[in-house]
Amino acid sequence: MVSGPSGAGKGTLIKGALERIGDLAVAVSATTRAMRPGEVDGREYHFMSRAEFARLVESGAFLEHAEFAGNRYGTLNTELDRIMDSGRSVILEIELQGARNVRVVRPESVSVFIEPPSLEELARRLRARATDADEEIEARLEVARTEVAAKAEFDHVILNDEIGRATDELVSVIESEVEVASGGPQG
Ligand code: 5GP
Repeated sequence: MVSGPSGAGKGTLIKGALERIGDLAVAVSATTRAMRPGEVDGREYHFMSRAEFARLVESGAFLEHAEFAGNRYGTLNTELDRIMDSGRSVILEIELQGARNVRVVRPESVSVFIEPPSLEELARRLRARATDADEEIEARLEVARTEVAAKAEFDHVILNDEIGRATDELVSVIESEVEVASGGPQG
């Protein structure tokens, strides 16, 4: 799973890694947040109302779920099954609380933290994205401080100072960990 502050570049790094590594897919999460321009329902997320999300929580559909900056996000068990049944490894792009929950229920998972060069740079990136309202950006920056403070919990920390270098690092982390997972005595 890949965590790190909103705007740290997780999505871009994961996209780069997917282009270079086969047998890997990102689980499409469910969320209650509004769709951003350019997003497609079922591709970036399964977008839904809070009522629908709550129903899925009730029915045990989530591996984990969390509240982030005023919206709910969750990893659907059906997504994990879909990807794993096709023989691929799953990448979860997930915030801090979700990563903590997954560590408990799936202790074999590997966690990677994507660190922005600085909180100032992060603020610049979030404002440049210009798809979120000002209050939303402030909420994300507030959460970012907590997230960066927790980076030592992660198996790997990748500093996203330069996209090409950081992608190389993510690719080598995934390649080494997937190899370990499939070649180890636990199978
Ligand atoms: P965004 O609204 O920017 O797409 O995502 C906000 C945060 O929610 C990001 O840190 C993202 O990684 C996280 N997130 C996305 N999907 C999930 C999920 O299924 N579970 C959890 N816990 N966090 C998620």
